[in-house]
Amino acid sequence: MIVDFCWIDGQEVKPNNDLAVEDPADRVVVARVPLAGSEEVASAVEAALRAFPVWRSWPVEKRSEAIRKLAIAIKDRQRELTLLISQEVGKPIGAAQSEVESAVEFLLYCAEEAKRFRSYMGNGFIIRHEPVGVCGIITPFNYPLSTLVTKIGPALSVGCSVVVKPDEHTPLSTLVVAKLTSEVGFPPGVVNVVTGPGAPTGEALLDHPEVRAISFTGSTEVGKRIYAKSSPFVRRLVLELGGNCPALVASDARWETFIDSMVRQTFKNSGQYCYRITRFIIHRSIYEEFVKKFVEGTGSLKVGHPRDPYTDLGPLNNRRVFERFCHQINHIYETGAKLIIGELPSIGKASSKGYFCKPLVFSEIPSDINISEEEFFGPVAFFFSYENDEEALRLANASKFGLAAYLFTQDMERINFWVNNLEAGSVWVNSIHQARFDAPFGGYKESGLGREKSPYGFESFTELKTVYWSIL
Ligand code: NAP
Repeated sequence: MIVDFCWIDGQEVKPNNDLAVEDPADRVVVARVPLAGSEEVASAVEAALRAFPVWRSWPVEKRSEAIRKLAIAIKDRQRELTLLISQEVGKPIGAAQSEVESAVEFLLYCAEEAKRFRSYMGNGFIIRHEPVGVCGIITPFNYPLSTLVTKIGPALSVGCSVVVKPDEHTPLSTLVVAKLTSEVGFPPGVVNVVTGPGAPTGEALLDHPEVRAISFTGSTEVGKRIYAKSSPFVRRLVLELGGNCPALVASDARWETFIDSMVRQTFKNSGQYCYRITRFIIHRSIYEEFVKKFVEGTGSLKVGHPRDPYTDLGPLNNRRVFERFCHQINHIYETGAKLIIGELPSIGKASSKGYFCKPLVFSEIPSDINISEEEFFGPVAFFFSYENDEEALRLANASKFGLAAYLFTQDMERINFWVNNLEAGSVWVNSIHQARFDAPFGGYKESGLGREKSPYGFESFTELKTVYWSIL
């Protein structure tokens, strides 16, 4: 499949400058896409502005049907999209396929939710949900298709038009989906994609005064920049940002039942996954046994080529992510933390062979390193022990992030205490991350602003208009 364009106003656009998209497993260039500058971004926003009144005036049933057709078209292209995602992210092929399947299901959910999303009539007034306008959508590299549909599904359902800027390393699946929108009958300009890096492409989108909302998933650092750059326009924002998620495991937990899924969840997508468990906070009485079993599970994971069906961990996605992870891990090791399993990653080793890294587990972390204040976007887990429930809670909350937390205990009082006091947007009790489409998803503190999925996620793309009426 040749993907070498931006998608603007229902057409392929090919500006002169381009950038290479590499397969992170072998550093082979798999595609070249345009580097969109402010001119291309402006024409994408103008196309979205022209399309907006057309799209919002479609009856909701017609919009819903278009979104349903898009879901089916993605399903029909499942094999090509799976391969593209595996190549652009470095994701094991089975995981890439699950991403495509889940994207299809989510769009089908949106097509139905669109019809349920109604205005409310009070006594003498109506509260109307109106589409906010042109939305800028900025996505990260780790789940390019899931993140895309999580944003455009609700935005399109309520009648917004969109300009998408995918991550420069993973634009391919997004471009294919954009092209499919035309094939299934979306009016030109409803979905536009501009490719290129944060600067200049993303910045040009942020600087455009006609972009009424930004939905962003990415690092807290870039999220803060988007927040600041949006203030002159008082723009609507949805920010899904970084995480450093704790798992609290009490002495009465049936942890043996969960240990395999905990290992898999921690190292899923080679640790490039905001909801994964980074910190294990384990009751002292079970600490040794728990760590032993976790390390055994970690040792059985296979690091390998993403297209090998037995691979559990593919490479990290790109040089920037890999180098940052190397620096973080080597620093932690040098300060005296105990590396129980894994091999310190080295920048030199990876340069020509792809960004592979074995899963790492650390314990005995010196108290002067604050693991919980950084995000680790790579395959690493840190172990801590605790004496009582208050201490476990204090350790869990001692972070600027507040995305998710995991609790393992059989004691209802303890569950109640922890659930009430944890600063996290999602809490899983005796289960491992399974997010539902009809439940909101987002973070406390510096993990984000606003919520995605569920009707709350749809509301983010609407303005409320209250109409007071009387008939004389
Ligand atoms: P990132 O560096 O923040 O990049 C995310 C997106 O923002 C990319 O498209 C990037 O473009 C773009 N960008 C960078 N600088 C920009 C700027 N100045 N203006 C506009 N756009 C800009 O994040 P990442 O490393 O790709 O992704 C990993 C992060 O995503 C992690 O922090 C992870 O926790 C977070 N994440 C959060 C969730 C959640 O639901 N909370 C889900 C998934 C991921 P280029 O990369 O092309 O330059």
